[in-house]
Amino acid sequence: MSGANGYSILFEPVKIGPVTARNRFYQVPHCNGLGHVRPQAEAAMRGIKAEGGWGVVCTQETEIHPTSDLGPYAENRIWDAQDVPALQLMTNKVHEHGSLAGIQLAHNGHHAMNHLTRAPVLGVSDMPIDSVYPKQARAMDKQDIRDLRRWHRHAALRAKDAGFDIVYVYAGHLMTLPHHFLLPQYNDRTDEYGGSLENRVRLTRELLEETREVLDGHCAVAFRFAVDQMMGPDGMQAAEEGRAVVEMLAELPDLWDVNVADWSNDSQTTRFQPQDGFQQPYTEFVKQITSKPVVGVGRFTSPDLMASLVKKGALDLIGAARPSIADPFLPSKIEQGRIEEIRECIGCNICVSADTLGVPIRCTQNPTMGEEWRRNWHPEKIAAKGCEDTALVIGSGPAGLECAMQLAKRGYDVTLAEARPEFGGRSLRESRLKGLGAWKRVADNRLWDLQQRGNVQMFTDSPMTAQEVAGLEIPNVFVATGSTWHRSSRGRTALASVPVRDLPIYTPDDIMANDLPPETGPVLIYDDDQGYMGGVVAEHLAAEGRQVILVTPGAVASAFTDLTLEQARVQTALLTAGVEIVPLHLLQSADASGATLACAYTARSRHIPCTSLLMVSARARDTELFDSLKQNYGEQFTTLELIGDAAAPGLIADAVYAGHMAARNFERDPAAVDADWFRREIPVLTDMGGA
Ligand code: ADP
Ligand code: SF4
Repeated sequence: MSGANGYSILFEPVKIGPVTARNRFYQVPHCNGLGHVRPQAEAAMRGIKAEGGWGVVCTQETEIHPTSDLGPYAENRIWDAQDVPALQLMTNKVHEHGSLAGIQLAHNGHHAMNHLTRAPVLGVSDMPIDSVYPKQARAMDKQDIRDLRRWHRHAALRAKDAGFDIVYVYAGHLMTLPHHFLLPQYNDRTDEYGGSLENRVRLTRELLEETREVLDGHCAVAFRFAVDQMMGPDGMQAAEEGRAVVEMLAELPDLWDVNVADWSNDSQTTRFQPQDGFQQPYTEFVKQITSKPVVGVGRFTSPDLMASLVKKGALDLIGAARPSIADPFLPSKIEQGRIEEIRECIGCNICVSADTLGVPIRCTQNPTMGEEWRRNWHPEKIAAKGCEDTALVIGSGPAGLECAMQLAKRGYDVTLAEARPEFGGRSLRESRLKGLGAWKRVADNRLWDLQQRGNVQMFTDSPMTAQEVAGLEIPNVFVATGSTWHRSSRGRTALASVPVRDLPIYTPDDIMANDLPPETGPVLIYDDDQGYMGGVVAEHLAAEGRQVILVTPGAVASAFTDLTLEQARVQTALLTAGVEIVPLHLLQSADASGATLACAYTARSRHIPCTSLLMVSARARDTELFDSLKQNYGEQFTTLELIGDAAAPGLIADAVYAGHMAARNFERDPAAVDADWFRREIPVLTDMGGA
């Protein structure tokens, strides 16, 4: 079958040192908030990727020693033999499907905070640790370096015991000691580990040689290396030292896993980097230097691009973190010619936000991500319907579309009614804002699926009243009517609304409907939501030629976007576009002359002239239809459920998740739903003695 659709090249096996990947689909290491804290959940999630066709499936970064303690974040751990059984859960799951398991060993140097272990932080040089915590790393002496090499060798042996096929040396993301040693910004050593590139590469070379030596042909040795820091001559560049490093180590690893640093550059969002394959210009040279297989990333979702990169000799293996999160079955779908079914990553980095919060991974496009073990959700399978036959879903935003699609998959006859002329709700509307075009994929994927099914009827231009819904006599109704941004200033910081007179007030909904503020004077955006929306509409209006002032009680624009690795880009984009940012201020009042603000700390007053106000404060749930149905016709329905933003405004990811959950739980025994509401991994309490 794989030969039939022109992508057969992607399904060729690839030899990686002593092991062979069954195809070219390579899930590179990625963080997930499961790790050593939730090993069963991580094993199940990785197992699903292997089931979906990824020929290689890797862990996230794995701390090799208590001096590299990344707590409170839930990375992996291989400090000693006690960690092996948890990791074995994962290798077993991956092997069940004939895939290879890779482990990314890491010592994080001054990037580790050691909050849990309180161990001294080891660094390439004396320097503050990589956080605001007032603590420093000490420059490693020769004994420390010998210790580190020994820890890495022992961790590699434990990795072999745990069943891994590929063991990493990791110099990337500015997060690990080998990387810190390589970069002059960090490395100010005067011994044989500092100064010349030959010296700065020494630690990496030793780790590669020693890992290979102890593994003794049982596992492949991979080297993950960021060839460019994307900061021009101020950092490592692919054309200069990046290339020189590859030349020096060309044949030493069995596999080159190459990318760019830091993490915010490697995992760029579509908002700031819409191009799939954006890392190719940086990493493409590597194949010309080494004879070893090369894996590269760049948010690949197009099989045409993947096949062309392999054909032209740019990559041997198609690396993916986010595309494998959004669609663990991407390889299988390509192999089976089910290209239209691929759930394309939208590049929103909500997956990243879970890691930065230290909670289990989630994904906008794939509501089952992170839920494989704790809810037993499979991305491609769902239980067949019970005794009910029909369901009505009202509203076609992400919640309604996901709910309708899953109900249809279960076999119900589904009717979907949408008030507006187009399906898609907020995922369509938000995609019209600057930078968010790819978010439309949330609607596109589900609409395509629904349109293929014979058991679905879909209606646009159908604003349903309670009476009309009751008249349809469909016993099971899911109301996904969404929410609207309100015009009052009542938001996150100030819970009381302030007076506004003689000044037009806009909301993000107006901007999405292309009803823009006048060009005659500045528009003042008051952002007390502090999510992504304030910054997005500011950028949008600046691009539309408006003079924009962004006022927020937060310390920076769009504070939330720090979690998605975007905040610096947001602030830079706004300032570059000429947006005036006024942080740490609350709106006090506004009238025809402009807005009066108060400093968040001193309450000192300040007046800013403007001719319109754009409130980005909070959203009102649209529950009118649901309330009326419940009140007037409640008895008539077997199921009447409010879902998505109408139930609890949040991210698009939350709305998709709510729609999915409703469809999964429909017709399930409520006691069973209650019983497995949230499966937890509880440590076994063993008395280890002690003082
Ligand atoms: P969510 O994120 O929860 O899916 P959205 O705001 O994206 O919510 O979508 C809600 C959708 O519901 C919108 O497209 C809206 O037009 C539609 N809608 C709201 N009220 C009705 C109604 N009474 N009848 C049909 N559709 C409705
Ligand atoms: Fe892609 Fe967003 Fe899912 Fe992450 S959360 S995998 S960026 S769709």
